[in-house]
Amino acid sequence: MAPCRFSPYIPFRPPSASSGRTASPRGRSALLTDTASIPTDDLVAGFQIENQQVRGRVVRLGAAVDTILAAHDYPEPVANLLGEACALAALVGSALKFEGKLIIQAQGDGPVAYVVADYDTSGSLRGYCRYDADRVAQASQGFARPGAQTLLGKGVFIMTIDQGPDRERHQGITAVEGETLALCAEHYFAQSEQVPTRVRLAVGELTTGEGLRSWRAGGAMIQNVAEDQARGATADAWERAQALFATTGDDELIDPEVPTDRLLYRLFHEDGVRLFTPKPLRAFCRCSHERIMDVLRSFPAEERVDMVEADTGLIRVTCEYCSSVYQVEPGSV
Ligand SMILES: [Zn+2]
Repeated sequence: MAPCRFSPYIPFRPPSASSGRTASPRGRSALLTDTASIPTDDLVAGFQIENQQVRGRVVRLGAAVDTILAAHDYPEPVANLLGEACALAALVGSALKFEGKLIIQAQGDGPVAYVVADYDTSGSLRGYCRYDADRVAQASQGFARPGAQTLLGKGVFIMTIDQGPDRERHQGITAVEGETLALCAEHYFAQSEQVPTRVRLAVGELTTGEGLRSWRAGGAMIQNVAEDQARGATADAWERAQALFATTGDDELIDPEVPTDRLLYRLFHEDGVRLFTPKPLRAFCRCSHERIMDVLRSFPAEERVDMVEADTGLIRVTCEYCSSVYQVEPGSV
């Protein structure tokens, strides 16, 4: 982990609106700049409230978050926390204007010691949690679903921008505050970026007609992108945008029957809202046999001897992110 340092402003701009924008800002749904090959699920997209210094992003996750969460047998509150982290990583990371990764982490002294979700600008998401099952069960008593503060305890929320091995990482750290990762993120943006920001995240399990359950997650954020000196002049618009944003229902964010453009239209139709071309998201882990070998080679030989399983004579490595299991012949390391 790179030493703690506060990140510079994360460029939070939707893509340029040069392509195919339609004329009226008040259609039945939010306007799309480009209707070719638009994903309807597992997507993240920027949007802009017409004629206001308010921009936002929205994320909808179906199969992608289900794949990530189904790779583990997490208790429901832990799966929820990781789902929130995945949605948040995509929301923030998709604003990056260069190739790289946006990593959301939180750690503390609570029942969940660590949660991480990483988004890379190719649209890949992955993540995992470390937790104590007994303590999670204990903390869950009396709660419908314990949130971030209860699960993580006293801890820190960390956002990292990683542009690759030859570039310096930018990292910002704030205290875990609030019962959702959305509140942690708002606190982060207020402290580290000084950009007024509202974030909503929702996670839930849907049951299909056949009784199959699958995870879904969704989220949205808005930011007042007016320059400091102009914030006073735009205060009313920002107040109004926040009030409308606050009416977003968790159920709407995760409902596969509510398309993203309709979701935004419901919220901001009076002012008009423009949705930028969505970017597809998927669950993808970068682990590989070669990477596992590199990790094993980084251990002293005597420690590798201790890793060999008595019954198989092999070293067995499980990827914490995706639960893939790699079996390695000790002699081949
Ligand atoms: Zn993996």
